[in-house]
Formats: sequence, structure tokens, C-alpha cells
Amino acid sequence: MNLQRARVACLYHACVFFLQDQDKEYVGFATLPNQVHRKTVKKGFTFTLMVAGETGLGKSTLINSLFLTDLYKDRKVPNAEERIGQTVDIVKHTIGIEEKGIKLWLSIVDTPGFGDAVNNTASWKHVEDYIDQQFEQYFRDESGLNRKNIKDNRVHCLLYFISPFGHGLRPIDVECMKALHEKVNIIPLLAKADSLTHAEAYSKKSKIREEIKQFGINIYQFPECESDEDEDSKRQEQILKDSIPFAVIGSNIQVESKGRKFRGRSYPWGVVEVENPIHSDFLLLRNMLVRTHMQDLKDVTRETHYENYRAQCIQSMTRMMVQERKRRWRSRSTMLTYDDDRMTCLGRKCVCT
Ligand code: GDP
Repeated sequence: MNLQRARVACLYHACVFFLQDQDKEYVGFATLPNQVHRKTVKKGFTFTLMVAGETGLGKSTLINSLFLTDLYKDRKVPNAEERIGQTVDIVKHTIGIEEKGIKLWLSIVDTPGFGDAVNNTASWKHVEDYIDQQFEQYFRDESGLNRKNIKDNRVHCLLYFISPFGHGLRPIDVECMKALHEKVNIIPLLAKADSLTHAEAYSKKSKIREEIKQFGINIYQFPECESDEDEDSKRQEQILKDSIPFAVIGSNIQVESKGRKFRGRSYPWGVVEVENPIHSDFLLLRNMLVRTHMQDLKDVTRETHYENYRAQCIQSMTRMMVQERKRRWRSRSTMLTYDDDRMTCLGRKCVCT
């Protein structure tokens, strides 16, 4: 027993000695990434995704498919009568997803009815207002006392659904994207891709890309690969760029075919697999959103869109302050003139008496 203890003590001292020896050339800042990692993991991550596009393009189905959760089980689908004068109700769902000990608070902001009421004039205005309100709230919180516990509700990404049945973009798509492109990262999607042949999907994608360029719409730009990055990353980045708008398919059900079970859609002539890269860009989109570009989407929101908003806010606040100061200065000088007049009067009175 004593021998055993002596051996353990010996081993312990050897370890301490080894670490001390190592510490001589090692200050320890190499552990910084681990410290940051531990702290961020403890806090958890937040991400806000907005979906927009006309009703029936498969927005909720795709969101359920993307995050493997039924976010919309209580949803009431409006009937035709309700849709005629439908106002744009913006609904936000937040769910906590945990994967390998990492917690993600995912918020989905849905804009039902967008673009499908009879009068669609500026129906995107509600979406724009919502995005601005989140910026405003963040700006207030940031300037307030409790800056430590700010909740970030800013919209990090907008998945914009484009109908597969039209010839490219509709005027409302152009109007909407142009109204929002300076405020949010827009990722255009070609909805219900299973209704298009490969050739049709290819030509629709090219047309939409051309129109996006032609109308000066600034969609989310994938960051350029660094020159020292490997060939595989560069190739992946190019595939992403060439796939815009992502042709997507959604499904809320599992189908079974050839002994395999998968999320898909079953038709009399066969089945389409949501996650099959030959059938759609679904996987490409999900990997991009979750695995590779989530942080970049948040960075662009913070560094570009929010900074623009903040700069505009500060500019208009400064303008208002200058105007207010001028107004006060003007009213004070009027009072001084008035006092001067009174003095003159009094003076004259004095002289008279
Ligand atoms: P939302 O109003 O845009 O949220 O659309 P929903 O997700 O409620 O979908 C409307 C209808 O389209 C439902 O019947 C879905 O089953 C169907 N749908 C959803 N995604 C797809 C798809 O990728 N392809 C096809 N063909 N139908 C889809």
C-alpha cells in the first residue's frame, strides 16, 4: 500500500516538474482561443433568420426541414377571404437547439402573407420597419446602463423566396430586395425546385442572377477566399457563388424508398430527396448557414448593416442638437435685444426725470 502511494507521489512530482520545465518557454497565451471558446460556449450562440416571400412558396416547410424541428405546428393558414386585405403580421419563433453541448438560440422571423394580398404596395415596409426596430432597440440598449446583458435581436439573414413559376424576378421582388439590401444580408432562394427540370432550374438561376446585377441589388456576398487557403475551400466557395439563388425543396415528412428512410416528397412517378445534392441545393444552403457562414453573416450584420444604421442615427441626432442649439441661441439673442430695448427705455425715462 505504502509502495503504491510512494509511486503515485513520485509520478505527481515528475508531472509538476515537467510542467514547470515546460512553462519556462511558455507564457501561456496560446490557451487564449480555448478561453474564448469556453466563455462563448457557456454563453451560447444566437442567430436570427428572417424568411420572406409570398405565401405558399414553402417557407415554413423549408425552415422545419433546415432545423429538423416543427416550428409551425400551431400555424393557422388564412383562407382566401382573409388574404384579400391581409396585413403583414410578423411572427417570431425562438427555439434552443443543442448539439454536442453547444447551445444555439435560433430565432425565425416569418412574414406571412407578404406579397400575396390584393394591394401589395410597399408590403415589404413592415419587414423594413421590423429590421429597423431591432437596430433601434440594440442602439438604445448599447447606449443604456445595462450593456452587459444586451439581447441581440438584430436580423442576421433574410432568406428571400422567389417563385419558380415566374420568369425571373417579379417587380415586387426587385422593389423589396432593393428596399432591404442595405439593412440585411439577403440570400435569394428559388423555391419548390422539384417543380423545375434541371435545364429550367439552370436557366432560371442565370436569369435571376443577371437581374440581380442589372437592378443593382446587393445580396449577401460570400467572403473571398484568402490566397493561402486550400484548393478545396476555394472550390467550395465557387460552388456557393455559382448556386445563387439556391434551388430548394422542403418537406415535413419522412418517406421510405428502396429500404431507406429520408426527408422527401413522394410523387406518382418517384420520390425527391430534400438532402440529395442532385435534387436540390438544400444541403449547400444548410451547410452554408450553419457550418460555414453563420459567424460571417453575424459579422456583416454588425460591421456593415448595423454600423450604417448607427452612423445615420448619430448623424441625425447631431443635426437635431445643432438645430436645437441654434434655436436656443436665436431665442436668447432676441431676449437680449428685448432687454437692451428695455434698458434704453429705462435710461430715457431716467434722463427725463
Ligand atoms: P409558406 O406559406 O410559404 O410557409 O408555405 P408552406 O411551407 O406552408 O407550404 C405550402 C405548400 O407547399 C404545402 O402544401 C407544402 O407541402 C408545399 N411545399 C412546401 N415545400 C415544397 C417544395 O419544396 N416543393 C413542393 N412541390 N411543394 C412544397
